[in-house]
Amino acid sequence: MHNVVIVGGGPAGLSAALAAAAAGAPVLLIDSNSRLGGQYWRNSVDELENQNEQHFDLATGLLLINAVKARKEIEVWSEAQIWSATNDEGKNTLRVIHQGKEKIVNTANLILCTGAYDRTLPFPGWDIPGVMTPGGVQSLLKGHGVLAGKQVVVAGTGPFLLPVAAGVIKAGGEVVSLIEANKSRRWVSSFIVILENLSKIKEAFYYIKTISRGKVRAQFGYAVIAAHAADNGELESVDIAKINRNFKVKKVKNIKCDVAAIGWGFTADTSLAGSLGCKQVVAKDESVVVWVDSEQQTNIPGVFAAGEITGIGGSDLSMAEGVIAGIAAAKFVGCKVDISKAHRKRRAKRQRFANALIKAYPIKTGWQLWPNDQTTICRCEEVSLGDLKFSVEELGATDSRTAKLFTRCGMGLCQGRICGRSVVDLVAKELNVLPTDIDRISAVNRPIITPIPLGVLAQGE
Ligand SMILES: Cc1cc2nc3c(=O)[nH]c(=O)nc-3n(C[C@H](O)[C@H](O)[C@H](O)COP(=O)(O)OP(=O)(O)OC[C@H]3O[C@@H](n4cnc5c(N)ncnc54)[C@H](O)[C@@H]3O)c2cc1C
Repeated sequence: MHNVVIVGGGPAGLSAALAAAAAGAPVLLIDSNSRLGGQYWRNSVDELENQNEQHFDLATGLLLINAVKARKEIEVWSEAQIWSATNDEGKNTLRVIHQGKEKIVNTANLILCTGAYDRTLPFPGWDIPGVMTPGGVQSLLKGHGVLAGKQVVVAGTGPFLLPVAAGVIKAGGEVVSLIEANKSRRWVSSFIVILENLSKIKEAFYYIKTISRGKVRAQFGYAVIAAHAADNGELESVDIAKINRNFKVKKVKNIKCDVAAIGWGFTADTSLAGSLGCKQVVAKDESVVVWVDSEQQTNIPGVFAAGEITGIGGSDLSMAEGVIAGIAAAKFVGCKVDISKAHRKRRAKRQRFANALIKAYPIKTGWQLWPNDQTTICRCEEVSLGDLKFSVEELGATDSRTAKLFTRCGMGLCQGRICGRSVVDLVAKELNVLPTDIDRISAVNRPIITPIPLGVLAQGE
């Protein structure tokens, strides 16, 4: 019998599992990946000595992973995908596909650490093979040792572009250009926060050293606004624009590449929390996150959340939140344990850094002028910007949800994970209004968390 069930084996979930187990609570840790570690410590080896070059600090990750594996109070289900979650009068029911079979887990005490995924912005040609997310390029490298292309443009915004560019160089690829939409001087006002988070600066310099060795020219205040395919349909070049502070295009040039890794930060994966009925709120960066109190508890008693799903902030903040969630969940089931001042201080320090990140890497509305009417917005259901406009202008859609019902955007395989956020912004622009929190929250909620085999549904209760 497990007292605490944790979903997600990344920095937050691993930290939560260890903290709960140390407090005396038996734990079940469920993760969809084949190896523990989540996004940050995604790896293809179990031994530290074989650590591949893609990591800044896999040592910490392996320490946590091995500690989790060593604790008899923690049972781990890897390659276990939760596809449905419901909450009925305090009882949470998770439906998990594990080793090809559906298992049902009932628990009153749950910690959600489901992380985040790359945010993309649509532009002409973003669906050409070779245009990828930085997370996709990095997952291939970290998880499989595969380099996505030889001549790579890394673009978008945020510090995550650095490990991806460094990773490509280390794997023998050429980073043709590293393009950051925001100016580096945006960090100046966060000088004190930088000083108290020197480990993050050390990490940034670790990547910058490799990038400089690769003689890569970083350009600030630029963005990829179009991609072009060769006769074989694969990526041949991208248009790079100098942009103003609102992301409006000033001057455009074309450069050749075979892969473009383009990402605009991350979007919290709140789908499981949303299915359970956890309260969601719109954060400062306009992403939808799970609301938690000072003990990482959601509005549902006994359901806790930690890591990127409560707001994008990086692995250190995820670990700090995970520890608090683990202790709080153990306390909830009767263990004699308390959250210390040191734990709260550590989280607060990491949270200040996360806030500084949001300030330094904003995404301005000028991007909404990059796509044209032919640009596909929903790739799964092949809905173009022109179709979305038609739903507003001719069919009378008055919000993104109605536009979705008219066009099927966001109803395909990814259930709006890729396009949902952009659709909300683009429909609001068409209506000449600002997106409401209701629009944003309704775009991230989906009753089936992940596609499942029909047979599982047929056999289900
Ligand atoms: C692709 C990608 C690459 C990243 N690389 C870096 C990097 O190099 N450096 C950096 O500082 N930050 C990186 N980040 C940011 C990173 O998310 C955080 O720093 C950190 O990993 C967050 O920890 P977490 O525990 O909150 O979530 P994650 O590490 O994302 O872990 C979440 C885990 O939950 C599992 N999960 C989610 N839903 C379900 C479900 N329904 N059923 C079962 N399991 C589920 C996932 O498989 C995953 O293992 C990356 C993010 C992404 C999306």
